[in-house]
Amino acid sequence: MKPMSLRIKLTFAFLAIALFSFALVGVFANFILGDQFESYAVDRLGRTLEGVVRQIAQIYARAGNAWDTMDLEDAGMDLLGEGLILRVEDAGGAVVWDAREHNNGMCMRMLENMARNMQSYRSGFEGGYVETRHPVEAGGKSAGTVYIGYYGPYFYSDADLQFLSGLNRLLLIAAGISLLACVLLGAYLAKLLAHPIADTIRATGRIAAGDYAGRIPQNSGTKEIVALTGSINSLAESLEEQARLRKRLTADVAHELRTPLATLQSHVEAMIDGVWEADAERLGSCREEILRLSKLVDELGALSRYDAEHLALDFERFDLAALARRVVTGFEAALRQKGVACELEGGDVYLFADRDKLGQVLVNLVSNALKFTPEGGRIGITVFGTHGEAAFTVWDTGAGIPEKDLPYIFERFYRADASRCRETGGSGIGLTIAEAIVKAHGGRIGVKSAVGRGSEFTVTLPADRPVSE
Ligand code: ADP
Repeated sequence: MKPMSLRIKLTFAFLAIALFSFALVGVFANFILGDQFESYAVDRLGRTLEGVVRQIAQIYARAGNAWDTMDLEDAGMDLLGEGLILRVEDAGGAVVWDAREHNNGMCMRMLENMARNMQSYRSGFEGGYVETRHPVEAGGKSAGTVYIGYYGPYFYSDADLQFLSGLNRLLLIAAGISLLACVLLGAYLAKLLAHPIADTIRATGRIAAGDYAGRIPQNSGTKEIVALTGSINSLAESLEEQARLRKRLTADVAHELRTPLATLQSHVEAMIDGVWEADAERLGSCREEILRLSKLVDELGALSRYDAEHLALDFERFDLAALARRVVTGFEAALRQKGVACELEGGDVYLFADRDKLGQVLVNLVSNALKFTPEGGRIGITVFGTHGEAAFTVWDTGAGIPEKDLPYIFERFYRADASRCRETGGSGIGLTIAEAIVKAHGGRIGVKSAVGRGSEFTVTLPADRPVSE
């Protein structure tokens, strides 16, 4: 089935609800009103009959306990107008006045009219001529009998029918108005919902086309819509950030490759042109550049492996101090060669983490400390535990990091002093990898440093098994 627009759907839904509820109300109203009106008509008829008998008795009393045919005729003709056929007999049973005798044609027309009324009100209404008998007494003696005929069991006059049809018309008008209101409300609600959804569709289309800059305005009053547009906006934001990082990475890699490649090219060209002799020293320097390049490529590979998002951690329980000792042992030869002392402090601190990857963090930090500490200097690792956390610092008494560089040293390829670091062989990736590993553990890494006095890197990690484990 072809999908239908939200606007049409909602409008139809509201229309259907309105029609259904109106049909329901209409049926109930008709039943209840019909019933009520019927019992009202029956009641009214009973009261009217009592009133007629009282009136006839008054006519008899007014004429000094005798039948006055003139008065009876007046009353009888009035009653005929109300749908009642009067007949009065005296105590002996002789007819004093009879509407049928007086004007039978009018009586028949009236009865036919009533029958028509009742049929038009409800087709199949079962009714017919009914006559009730009422004895009249005066002074304790019988004065005669009043017979009242009508279309029964009850009847609706023209005025009653007018009232009922007026009521129905009113119901219909109310139905029309509420139907229109429902359609308008449905259309308005649909617009209210469809608008932000259309905005979202446009925005996601733009995102799909690679334009991450636009944001959907957060001005809807609907919680779910705000949540939807909010998550689309944050999706755009993170895609924008990813695109920015990707661009920067490409630019950084190009920049990193350019220098060694240019050096290589100029050296090789000079040798080809015969400007330089291809001796062992020059070929050795070319080899050095090639090694630098392959190291860079290795580190790039490592960086993508350690990318926090894709870093799969292999958790185990181990002693951080033991790991630090093992790392320092690995550096023993280099420490001795450079004439730098190493101090290890702190007792056993157990934590639940990826031992190999934290070993990598320690290696990166210690190798930096060693790299930037001159002969005769000192470096060290201090391991300690705090409330539910395990931590270590790697410190040195080396060159230190200028304050202006501190915010950037964890960024990839960032080197505080390019010339100095090129000599030291760094490519600016070690700290990026360390930070990625620490963050993947849910930990923090920070640095304090003073130029000429040394640096201190502190890593804090949750000591317990992570919830996701
Ligand atoms: P690299 O491979 O160049 O060492 P890192 O990411 O490990 O890259 O470090 C980035 C930069 O931070 C280094 O180039 C250096 O300028 C600075 N740095 C890191 N550790 C130290 C330290 N212990 N002492 C002084 N500078 C440091």
